Amino acid sequence: MMVLHHCDRPGCVEPTHLYLGTAKDNYAAMRERGRAVGNASPSTVAACDEALERIDREMCRLRKRWDWMLKRRALLTRS
Ligand SMILES: [Zn+2]
Repeated sequence: MMVLHHCDRPGCVEPTHLYLGTAKDNYAAMRERGRAVGNASPSTVAACDEALERIDREMCRLRKRWDWMLKRRALLTRS
């Protein structure tokens, strides 16, 4: 099993664009779509980009939180 993209964008993280399938499914879907990567509609592409930005923000938030936790731990273990 592998993660396939309805939108043909390998880097996409939008959950509604992803589905599980086999390599055979992937090949069939690619043939069906004319094998042209990046032929997604503008609204689909916008949704992909929006999802990536959302993940980016979330990662940034988690990294800040992680930094804060490390600092806190350093303070607690110093005494
Ligand atoms: Zn997508």
